[in-house]
Amino acid sequence: MTESWSDPGCTRCRLAKGRTKVVGGVGSRSSRIVFVGEAPGRDEDLKGEPFVGRAGRMLDQALKEAGARREDVYITNIVKCRPPGNRRPRKDEVDACSMYISAEIERVHPKVVCALGLTVAKGLFGTKGRMADIEGRPFEATVHGRKVTAMVAYHPAACLYRRDKTEQFEQSIRKSLELAGVV
Ligand code: URA
Repeated sequence: MTESWSDPGCTRCRLAKGRTKVVGGVGSRSSRIVFVGEAPGRDEDLKGEPFVGRAGRMLDQALKEAGARREDVYITNIVKCRPPGNRRPRKDEVDACSMYISAEIERVHPKVVCALGLTVAKGLFGTKGRMADIEGRPFEATVHGRKVTAMVAYHPAACLYRRDKTEQFEQSIRKSLELAGVV
């Protein structure tokens, strides 16, 4: 079943002004894993669905390589509206949006949460290390009151510019899926 928990009329932060659509999470409510990206980009803003542009194709490819499909997992972002010019979401925007991801984590109750990129890892898990120190290494974390196995992978968009990171990205996605028991 595909479900999405978001408010299409949300005005909790300044990002509401510039968005076309609120981009809620998609995927299976019974998924054992949640992948969390940073924020919608242009394609996602127009379609109202996360990871449907170039970065999304990288993610789909990594899922496929590992033997999973989009329908097997739950995919969302820490902020649900596109920041202007695709800038990083600010802390107050992440905070304003946190009630939505909190609801998603509570209702999907995944075993594994995989943060895509350092900004997401900081926002979700409060990690302080550098990407090189935390990427691909599972650890226990409490996310919005729920104990999960946390994983951090490179953001797929980063791999579009740094092709040398693609293999590591794909390995982290595979490991996350394995830890969750999806593949
Ligand atoms: N990048 C993200 O972090 N999220 C998306 O939904 C698309 C691109």
